[in-house]
Amino acid sequence: MVRIEGLRKSFGDLEVLRDVNLDIMPGEVVTIIGASGSGKSTLLRCINLLETPDAGHVWFQGSDLTADHVDVNKLREDIGMVFQGFNLFNNMDVLDNCTLAPVTLKKATKQEAEQTAMHHLESVGLADFADAAVAKLSGGQKQRVAIARALCMNPKIMLFDEPTSALDPEIVGEVLEAMRKLAAEGMTMVVVTHEMAFARTVSDRVVFMDKGVIAEQGAPAQIFGNPQHARTREFLKRYL
Ligand code: ATP
Ligand code: MG
Repeated sequence: MVRIEGLRKSFGDLEVLRDVNLDIMPGEVVTIIGASGSGKSTLLRCINLLETPDAGHVWFQGSDLTADHVDVNKLREDIGMVFQGFNLFNNMDVLDNCTLAPVTLKKATKQEAEQTAMHHLESVGLADFADAAVAKLSGGQKQRVAIARALCMNPKIMLFDEPTSALDPEIVGEVLEAMRKLAAEGMTMVVVTHEMAFARTVSDRVVFMDKGVIAEQGAPAQIFGNPQHARTREFLKRYL
């Protein structure tokens, strides 16, 4: 579904991605782990062109996103993204947050969009909050709205950049549960996370990034049980 080849990205003199190669299959859940500054967010953001790669290729469903003629807005309709900081419209209620993009970008009718939104709000356990003001929600609720909102565009893949890092520990679980459910439904997901239990139990593959390269990747059992790389072992020690 996604093929990344020879990807490079620098900010000024700082080489953040140095020849990254990664394939993501339909239905696969891939977690990306690694130290702060290793390039995880930049890699994720290159998949939906929130960052422009300096070199290399990113293919999404067979189209080369690094080609000139790519319609970025169309592309982003197919790629859902959930950020650490929610990025919701705080002056709108929950339902309007979920229907805005489908109505304005996908030309859904208000009624269709609301029906779809209620379905996804239901699945993240927030159907009762459809009319609530976003500003009044807890962090965990906001993040579940962000997930539902992304799903309303009927994306082919969901990207998550540390979706639980800004949350109080006691509400991390409700967001991870919503993600776990989505994974079980077969959604293709790429998740940057420090939640090692999630990486271990939900993902099909774990990618360890170190200083702008993929140092090691493999099945969770292999990465957590028998890491090959000294840097991976060193990194994982912090989570023991
Ligand atoms: P973290 O775990 O802290 O989120 P990360 O692995 O996601 O780290 P990136 O956000 O990809 O790391 O950043 C890698 C490096 O690139 C960092 O040193 C960061 O400061 C730098 N960087 C990221 N975005 C930009 C930018 N827009 N301009 C300049 N430098 C940037
Ligand atoms: Mg990051």
